[in-house]
Amino acid sequence: MTEQDTQANGKVLELDQVTKRYGKDAIAVDRFSQKFDTGTYVCLLGPSGCGKSSTLRMIAGHEDVTSGDIKLGDTSLINKSPAQRGTAMMFQNYALFPHLTVLDNVAFSLRMAGVGKPERHTKANELLELVHMQEFAARLPDQLSGGQQQRVALARALITKPSVLLLDEPLSALDPFLRIAMRSELSRLQRELGITFIHVTHSQDEALALADHIVLMNNAVIEQAGSPSDIFNRPQTDFVARFMGGHNVVTIDGQLSALRSDKTDLIAETADARAIPTTVEHVEYLGRTVNITVSSPQQGQLVVSVSDDQYQQRRWRPGESAGVCWNPENLHPVRLSSTH
Ligand code: ADP
Ligand code: MG
Repeated sequence: MTEQDTQANGKVLELDQVTKRYGKDAIAVDRFSQKFDTGTYVCLLGPSGCGKSSTLRMIAGHEDVTSGDIKLGDTSLINKSPAQRGTAMMFQNYALFPHLTVLDNVAFSLRMAGVGKPERHTKANELLELVHMQEFAARLPDQLSGGQQQRVALARALITKPSVLLLDEPLSALDPFLRIAMRSELSRLQRELGITFIHVTHSQDEALALADHIVLMNNAVIEQAGSPSDIFNRPQTDFVARFMGGHNVVTIDGQLSALRSDKTDLIAETADARAIPTTVEHVEYLGRTVNITVSSPQQGQLVVSVSDDQYQQRRWRPGESAGVCWNPENLHPVRLSSTH
């Protein structure tokens, strides 16, 4: 999308130095600045308590900003009510009205806006079709599975035609199988609608799988933002490397670096004098890959990820001595995070 396109429809969401304090001392979000291009799938990622939900609630208007500005296009949102913002929020617990049918749940905000019954039911049916729930229109929420309730909650949020859909941990209540299925469903919806989704999650896998753009937070600030492959392959700090997983953080000649664990090799200790001497601590069989945790006096714990085939050829056992080595080209320099 070009600068001109995004300006033309005026729907770039911009957070400028947004800060949230609860009470005097607690700072939940500290000068969060970020632009979200139209039609982007954004994941707001980070450990529990880092300020993701507070950020989302400030965008939605369910929480005041302490300072800073939030703009959609040229318009500041901070003095607008949630309904006036052009954003819609899907809550973690779906919050469907138990006494209303699926159709009336979806049509609810149109009823509030004074739209007549035939028109709001037509629109609600269109949205139910979009989320593949049209045949459940007459049911009550407690006659639906968790995954179906979630589709209804999505339809209900989308009926206001938001420019930005906000989703707080939308998949966390689902079982792992359904979670993966709903992941592709969310991705399809976002592509079909062409609007911006901002999806809060603490799951690295979920963010990598879904996002065009990841904003990784820690302790109230943005630690790093970028594409999934940027964040995974070019972590800027040791925190990012450790949080995303799949990396070893090593110190070589005083330089802190990250090294992908699938690019770290385990060899017989005597095979190469340059290898770091280690002891195998434990072996985790994951199916396609096997993670072998080793420890060394200089580098502490390191994880070496090998393929199942490699592991079948050389089955490392706890207590064995092993050498760890890598191609220096795969070392990626990082700085020490200031948010620890
Ligand atoms: P996340 O969604 O990343 O887990 P939150 O935005 O919910 O993080 O919380 C960030 C910080 O703000 C936490 O320390 C949390 O305890 C605090 N916090 C969140 N909501 C409130 C509130 N309503 N009152 C006081 N503190 C809050
Ligand atoms: Mg949260």
